[in-house]
Amino acid sequence: MEPMIEKLQQAVNESNYIVFFGGAGVSTESGIPDFRSQDGLYAQKYKYPPETIVSHSFFMRKTDEFYDFYRDKMIITDAKPNAAHLKLAELEAAGKLKAVITQNIDGLHQAAGSKEVLELHGSTLRNYCMSCGKRYDGVKYIVESKGVPKCEDCGGIIRPDVVLYEEGLDNSVIRRAVDHIARADLLIIGGTSLVVYPAAGFIDYFHGKHLAVINMSETSRDGAADILIQGKIGQVLSQITV
Ligand code: NAD
Repeated sequence: MEPMIEKLQQAVNESNYIVFFGGAGVSTESGIPDFRSQDGLYAQKYKYPPETIVSHSFFMRKTDEFYDFYRDKMIITDAKPNAAHLKLAELEAAGKLKAVITQNIDGLHQAAGSKEVLELHGSTLRNYCMSCGKRYDGVKYIVESKGVPKCEDCGGIIRPDVVLYEEGLDNSVIRRAVDHIARADLLIIGGTSLVVYPAAGFIDYFHGKHLAVINMSETSRDGAADILIQGKIGQVLSQITV
């Protein structure tokens, strides 16, 4: 085992309030592209940058084009949890990990069995009619509809329960996330570029003993981490024993 992974194992062994903070890089090993890796969505060519397409104003103005991109790139119907999702669920079941705080919208942490999952940016698995509020759970209705999905009751536009750029985060989710981070003795940050705010700022509330960063590329928190591992998070976490 590499020395840094051994150090992570020791930190896991001695910690009782582990919190995980992650992003799109956690799901790349499940086949879902992130935004900022070399083969991420930013490197692919679209008429508009992804950040523009998944913004509130674009959704309101060009809902059909939003859904073309969203169906094509943001909903992956056959993705399965990978070793990172599974290990985090195992750590929670063992009582060591108290929360997964994620910027992801793919539901894979819950699919792996994690219970306390704080979805800062919502979920593609929840959708609702903007006119009457009728809920459409799962992605089936969106995937199977053509163009802009419409409510079967009132004909209103259905939107995903995800936080688009220019939209605010849910305050109760923020409160719970910040509370967990403030209580953590080990915070593991992984698979995130830490450039999306306000989410990335919540880790400032951490004052615990060990900060671990597991990411393929550099992040702004590398200097603050006592455990720094540049690698694939699934491969790294699968080496940890609970
Ligand atoms: P990002 O694309 O900005 O950054 C991903 C980071 O993860 C990069 O630094 C990359 O080097 C690293 N990475 C990629 N694969 C990795 C792996 N296997 N192991 C370790 N590190 C890996 O992602 P972000 O910081 O989450 O910000 C992007 C925003 O886009 C978020 O708000 C998120 O909601 C959204 N998004 C979500 C999904 C998803 O739900 N799966 C996918 C794409 C984008």
